[in-house]
Amino acid sequence: MTAVNIALAPRPIDPSVDHEIQGIVSGSLQGETCNTDLVEAPWRFDTVPGYGPGASEGDVIPTGAPRQGELPRKYREAGEDELDARITAAKNTLGDRVVVLGHFYQREEVVRHADYVGDSFQLAGAAKARTDAEAIVFCGVHFMAETADLLSGPDQAVILPNLAAGCSMADMASIDEVEQAWEELADVYGDLDTPDAEGLLPVIPVTYMNSSAAIKGFVGRHHGIVCTSSNARTVLEWAFKRGRRVLFFPDQHLGRNTAKAMGVPLEQMPMWNPRKPLGGNDDTTLDAARVILWHGFCSVHRRFSVAQIDKARAEHPGVRVIVHPECPMEVVDAADEAGSTDYIRKAIEAATEPTTFAIGTEVNLVQRLAAEHPQHEIFCLDPVVCPCSTMYRIHPGYLAWVLESLVAGEVVNRITVPADVADPARVALERMLAAKPPAAPAAAWEQAS
Ligand code: SF4
Repeated sequence: MTAVNIALAPRPIDPSVDHEIQGIVSGSLQGETCNTDLVEAPWRFDTVPGYGPGASEGDVIPTGAPRQGELPRKYREAGEDELDARITAAKNTLGDRVVVLGHFYQREEVVRHADYVGDSFQLAGAAKARTDAEAIVFCGVHFMAETADLLSGPDQAVILPNLAAGCSMADMASIDEVEQAWEELADVYGDLDTPDAEGLLPVIPVTYMNSSAAIKGFVGRHHGIVCTSSNARTVLEWAFKRGRRVLFFPDQHLGRNTAKAMGVPLEQMPMWNPRKPLGGNDDTTLDAARVILWHGFCSVHRRFSVAQIDKARAEHPGVRVIVHPECPMEVVDAADEAGSTDYIRKAIEAATEPTTFAIGTEVNLVQRLAAEHPQHEIFCLDPVVCPCSTMYRIHPGYLAWVLESLVAGEVVNRITVPADVADPARVALERMLAAKPPAAPAAAWEQAS
């Protein structure tokens, strides 16, 4: 596992979605955007019950989701250059005592200060590897900071610069809803902890990395496992060796795309809607089920469509279309390849001839890849500039605040997973790390993921 190491010294600003959005706001650029209101002041939205403008604006936020207290005025009123200088100075003062992690989907003004840039799993690995750092500042969303806390040392403080940076997909599977579903499944299948005559359990719960620590703990307690978008097939193979079927959450699309590629018929993949009795299914459907898909999705990846792919092919003959497996099945089917953010990055790096790429994932990453690979033409399939609104809450003002607080000896916004959740959650993560891919060569899609 390798994370992308970014030099500590400030680097020139790459063209990014932030600058494009800011250009649209100032009138110097023409373009479409879903909403620009988080660009300057995410703190205006942190106290209201919603995700704020952006790709997940319409998603329901749970009432118990963390809220962020008011950011001190000096950070709210500072300009971009001042914040940049403050962050750089604080990092220089702290030296190796702090490590800053930046997710691929973060805005450029934050990513430029990251010691490591990667997807959630790579960054969890970076957090685990930097045992010398007293503080790990995770520029990502809440479940990622929780995972870093699970994998880092007990004396290391994991800090999320803005507590309101959740993930609407992770929030779509609450622990109460999952516990309720488990009870209902026990009514259908009987004792869920007792294997049948062939040694198989009735259901193995599998959760995507994009879920709360409470869900990972649930999975760990019930013989289940965590997966990422890179290893979902390997994990499902692991689960099918141990159970008759899988309950997969929170992302229905990753579950469906992966299981379909493994040959599971769609009619054996019923959806579980937590707001309906038996998830909206009957006993017969559940009896035949191989993969029960939780009714969750990513609002960023749900925006991609077959029509966008058709348009890209019509306007760019020979275009290579790569989408993330969180996209709907018909989009994955229409693309040339599907794979995790790391797969997409490596596919572009490996292209030796100038190539046109149409990419179906978060626009911040796509625009950064385009800037890093000027020999290729790289564009986002979605023509509307619409970043993940939860990721976008990590404004440089929050990063400056948490770092300067550390310089002053104060740890703010620490994310701590309680031991009764952390212990089984680590078990589920360790099962994932121990799961090995099948020896035979995988098909193109699985290699991609
Ligand atoms: S891109 Fe989707 S899955 Fe990732 S943090 Fe945003 S809402 Fe969550």
